[in-house]
Amino acid sequence: MPGGIVELRRRLLGWFDTNQRDLPGRRTADPWAILVSEIMLQQTTVAAAVPYYERFLARWPRPADLACAATDELLAEWSGLGYYRRARLLHDAARRVADAGGAMPDGADALAALPGVGRYTAAAVASIAYGEPVAAVDGNVERVVTRLLALPGNPRQAAVARAIRDGAQALLDPRRAGSFNQSLMELGATICRPTRPRCPDCPVGDGCLARLQGAPERYPELPARAAPTPVTRVAALIGRGRHALLERRHAAPNEGFFELPSLDLPGGTEPRAADGDAAWSALALHLRSAFGIRVTLDEALSPHRHTITRYRITVHPFAGTLSSGAVKSPLAWVDPARPDQPLTTATRRILARVRANTERRGSTSRT
Ligand code: SF4
Repeated sequence: MPGGIVELRRRLLGWFDTNQRDLPGRRTADPWAILVSEIMLQQTTVAAAVPYYERFLARWPRPADLACAATDELLAEWSGLGYYRRARLLHDAARRVADAGGAMPDGADALAALPGVGRYTAAAVASIAYGEPVAAVDGNVERVVTRLLALPGNPRQAAVARAIRDGAQALLDPRRAGSFNQSLMELGATICRPTRPRCPDCPVGDGCLARLQGAPERYPELPARAAPTPVTRVAALIGRGRHALLERRHAAPNEGFFELPSLDLPGGTEPRAADGDAAWSALALHLRSAFGIRVTLDEALSPHRHTITRYRITVHPFAGTLSSGAVKSPLAWVDPARPDQPLTTATRRILARVRANTERRGSTSRT
C-alpha cells in the first residue's frame, strides 16, 4: 500500500471512527465494564448480549459488588445467555479482584492471571481501558491479519498462531491501541467476513496481499470443522400448579442451573413414534433409580432442538404426573416464572411453549 503501515493505520482508524457499531463496552473506559462486555460477547451475538450487559452493570457496577452476590443470583441474571461457565469464572475473577483491594489489574499480564480471562480478553481490556499497546487477536482479527499479510498455515498450530500475533502487533498503532484493535475486530465482523468478504468496501483493500493474490477466502487456512455430534435426550415435564419438577445440576456444563430431569439415549438416535414408549420407559426407570420417584406418562410433546458448542441436541419432552415418591434434592418444585430462578435457556423455552399451548387449548375450549 502506498504510504505503508502508517497509511494503513490511518485508514483503518478513520474508517473505524466513522463506521463503528454501538457495542456494549464501547462507551466506557472502565476496565470492569469492558471485561464484562468481552466475556458476554464470547459465543453470543451483540443483540442478545446488550440487555444482559446493561442489567448486569446496573446491578453489579464494580467487581466488589459481584463478589458479594450469591451464585444463584448471578446464574439467574445470566440465565438465557448460555455458556454458563463464563458466569462462574467471572464471579471468581470478581472475588479475586475484591480480595486484592477492589481495583482492577492495570495491565494485560495481570488481567490474564484472573480466572476465565485469556490472552485475547486481557489484551482487549488493557488496550481499550489503559491504552496498553498490545494486540488483541480474536477470530475476526485472526482472519483480517492472515488475509492482509497472506499468512499461510493452520492458526491452531502454535507457530502459525505466533506469526499472526506478531503480525497483529506489528500493525498495531501504539498511539491508539484500543481503537486500533477494535478497528480490526470491526473490519472482520462487518467487511472481511469468513465468506464473500466485501473487498471493494474495505478501507485497506489496496494493501491486502490475499486480495492481490485473488483468493482472500483462502485465508485463514483452518481445518474443516467436524460435524456436530447429535444428542437425543428424553425429558420429563412434571407439573404441579404453577410449579415444574426440575433437577438442579451439580456438574458442568450447566452446574447450578435447573433443568427438566432427563436421560440421554445411547448413540444419539432419534426415537421414532414407534419408539416413544421405549424412550418413556427408559426415562421412567431413570427417574425411579436416580431420584426414587415414580411417574406416569400423559403425553409426548413436540421436540426442542438446539446446538451447544459441538453438540446438536434434540430434547423430546414427555408430560407426566408424579404418582409416588418424595421430591428431594437435586429435584425441586420450581416456579419457572420467577426471574430469580436459574433455568437453562432450553428449559425456559420448553416450559414457555408448553404453557402457551395449554393457554391456547384453554381459550379454544372456552369458545
Ligand atoms: S481486502 Fe478483502 S480480504 Fe483483504 S482485508 Fe479487506 S475485506 Fe479482508
